[in-house]
Amino acid sequence: MFLPQEIIRKKRDGGVLSAEEIQFFVGGITSNRVTEGQIAALAMAVFFNDMTMDERVAFTLAMRDSGEVLDWRSLDLPGPVVDKHSTGGVGDVVSLLLGPMIAACGGFVPMISGRGLGHTGGTLDKFDSIPGYTTVPDNTLFRKVVKEVGVAIIGQTSSLAPSDKIFYGVRDVTATVESVAMITGSILSKKLSAGLDALVMDVKAGSGAFMPTYDKSVELADSIVKVGNGAGMMTSAILTDMNESLAPYAGNALEVRGAMDYLTGVSRPARLHEVTMALCAEMLVLGKLAQNETEARAKLQACLDNGSAAERFARMVVALGGPADLMENPDKHLEKAPIVVPVPSLKSGYASTTDCRGIGLAVVSLGGGRRRAADPIDFAVGLTALAGLGDKIEAGQPLAMVHARTQEAAEQAVREIQAAYQIGDSAPAANPVVYRTIRP
Ligand code: URA
Repeated sequence: MFLPQEIIRKKRDGGVLSAEEIQFFVGGITSNRVTEGQIAALAMAVFFNDMTMDERVAFTLAMRDSGEVLDWRSLDLPGPVVDKHSTGGVGDVVSLLLGPMIAACGGFVPMISGRGLGHTGGTLDKFDSIPGYTTVPDNTLFRKVVKEVGVAIIGQTSSLAPSDKIFYGVRDVTATVESVAMITGSILSKKLSAGLDALVMDVKAGSGAFMPTYDKSVELADSIVKVGNGAGMMTSAILTDMNESLAPYAGNALEVRGAMDYLTGVSRPARLHEVTMALCAEMLVLGKLAQNETEARAKLQACLDNGSAAERFARMVVALGGPADLMENPDKHLEKAPIVVPVPSLKSGYASTTDCRGIGLAVVSLGGGRRRAADPIDFAVGLTALAGLGDKIEAGQPLAMVHARTQEAAEQAVREIQAAYQIGDSAPAANPVVYRTIRP
């Protein structure tokens, strides 16, 4: 029998906790055997004294085991259960593409995703912009869609990793979110509870990334790969660029339109395509659906070219309650903003840097994101035709198009986007889109 305060004291003094101590403490979060004050104290002790990889594995598994753990074995699926998770980005529509693409290549993707908070968009909010689509199906429907379509993108249920929800809530108000050990446990406990065979993690680096520096992004990617594999789930991480919006558009319904254009081949923006293909290829290799990256990329390209990935997306939308003709008639179903205005560049030159976080926050100001968790979302608003880094722009030419609900909101967004772009005299050196892949 342990005492919570002794576990806190040990971590406070720089000790290494045993798996049993961690299980006792984390198990106590949902049973109320530990108090909120004790959770806060442990979080601060971990923030300063960190956790070893073994401690992180025990912490992650204990949080996974605080709730339900999905088990896909009884469905006898003829392929691996795989998923991707990202630390969050602007114009990051990859999940909407990757799920259907992997399904079309023989994988099964039970993707449990989150809402946007702060400057990054949330996959769930994008799906909520599709009328009728339910992001909270019951378990029977979720399993049926995963089995029959190969992909279901839905919302977090309170039965998965409930101790993480409580722990995160305490971290959020005690300045202890920024700990690689605890971020690792938080992300992976939720992914492990989805019963995955393999996970590919997209860790963003740059001015729109959750982690503050490139080195911190590397540290998180490395931790996630070590702990994910240590917890029995094949895990790789890819470090990708978030110094500018991933797609040239951002905003919920606008991103759904963009995703459909990508899948049907109307438009495949280069940066988005590169990140999507890199993540999908890694998933196919991890899931043994391809021998190597070259074979994986060929399979993925075939699923795009022959329309089977687009068809999976359409089937998933219908299976979860959305319209059967969404792909054919997007304008009938996806809301459009009443005001669309250009953002004139204030000078001539080259787009040399963007404050990517600022671009995400401009979408939030338009009403397309949340400042607080309970805020409503305006699905129609956002940005399109965002200039890419390196683009040559004349004064007065548009840096982007703003889609707004009111004239006032549009004018504010114009100013925010103008402030987010630096226009230089020469073209900047091109940034890689994919920095590196981290494997065990
Ligand atoms: N996302 C999570 O799910 N948990 C964290 O701790 C940070 C980001």
